[in-house]
Amino acid sequence: MDVDRDLAIRRHPERGRHEREIIDAILDEAPICHVGFVVDGQPFVMPTIHARDGNTLYLHGSNASRMARRLAEGIPACVTVTLLDGLVMARTVFDHSMNYRSVVVLGSLHEVTDRDQKLRGLRAVVEHVAPGRWDEARQPNDKEMKATSLLAMVLDRTSAKIRTGPPKDDPEDLSFPVWAGVVPMRLAPGDPIPDAGLDPALEISGSVRRYLDEHA
Ligand SMILES: Cc1cc2nc3c(=O)[nH]c(=O)nc-3n(C[C@H](O)[C@H](O)[C@H](O)COP(=O)(O)OP(=O)(O)OC[C@H]3O[C@@H](n4cnc5c(N)ncnc54)[C@H](O)[C@@H]3O)c2cc1C
Repeated sequence: MDVDRDLAIRRHPERGRHEREIIDAILDEAPICHVGFVVDGQPFVMPTIHARDGNTLYLHGSNASRMARRLAEGIPACVTVTLLDGLVMARTVFDHSMNYRSVVVLGSLHEVTDRDQKLRGLRAVVEHVAPGRWDEARQPNDKEMKATSLLAMVLDRTSAKIRTGPPKDDPEDLSFPVWAGVVPMRLAPGDPIPDAGLDPALEISGSVRRYLDEHA
């Protein structure tokens, strides 16, 4: 497979993956991304929510946000997501590592102004976080639609890098007397806290219940 020079994985190339289904799965599982861009020579890397819809990656933000305004100009951007799967505790300090799945996307974003596509993209953002939530909550009105920018990026320059497995100590270090292994890591929700003023008759909605069940 031909790989874009900027996306070729040079350190530990065996961990590099370019299959779309692997990249899509990591983008879909990661709750947030970081988007990097340069304004007047100053790089910024901003945490933000993302969503994937087929071959499109969506970001959204307030119209007033510098991030949204600058990205809408189509400047070069880099989106990164990271899933931390484990702490790799080796026998040597040098061989400590982390198990992870991460994706880098290069390209530029454009603002989506078509109302139907914007609704579809905003829906994707909400559903990315908690599937089923869009239909449970009040739909956006015109004022809210105007106050929100939706930015889209084509997913055609992407790479993934994945580390799995135990520590990789050298054979001569295997007898060093210290515990070694992997501490699995995952993001897990705590107990939900009802909003103050919530009608006590309202039960936890389906999307939240499902989220709790699936991430328990
Ligand atoms: C988990 C998470 C999810 C988010 N999701 C979204 C989203 O979907 N859409 C969205 O628009 N925003 C989101 N944000 C907020 C986002 O990171 C920015 O704060 C916001 O977009 C405002 O950007 P701006 O360019 O207008 O910031 P400005 O107010 O112009 O930034 C000025 C300066 O404030 C500081 N600053 C701004 N934001 C942050 C930050 N997050 N952390 C530390 N310092 C900061 C930086 O020094 C920055 O240079 C999210 C943040 C987090 C942590």
